[in-house]
Amino acid sequence: MSPKKKKGKERKKKISCKKCGRVIDPIEHPPSKTWQLISPMPDKEGRVTLTIMGSFRCPDCNASVRAAMKKIKGDEIGSGKSKKELLIQAVNLLQEPTPIEQIEIEGVSPASVGKAIQIMIDRGQMSGKIENEVFLPN
Ligand SMILES: [Zn+2]
Repeated sequence: MSPKKKKGKERKKKISCKKCGRVIDPIEHPPSKTWQLISPMPDKEGRVTLTIMGSFRCPDCNASVRAAMKKIKGDEIGSGKSKKELLIQAVNLLQEPTPIEQIEIEGVSPASVGKAIQIMIDRGQMSGKIENEVFLPN
């Protein structure tokens, strides 16, 4: 892998087993499942976060481990933004076609994720589209 990062705002996380402490290399031991966790709540710098989550099995103790594999931070958008503006910013961090079932939005029930995204697209607040239950960003 190239040491050059695509974006300065991307941060790779070390994954370790919460039970035995073993560090899990996601290339050697790929996750059985991944999903995108969208956090529309801004951090202290006023940025929303997209976290790529993975579900792993510890090769040493066989414990199941849910861990953040990568975090992508949005631009600083400051305070005073409405919940809706924050949500739009956060969903816009999705850069690749993603099945709706692999998208989790904090504060939104899983059954409503597709609907919430569709409404923002319909209103012209967000680009992209949903096709066959897959969100396709532009
Ligand atoms: Zn372990």
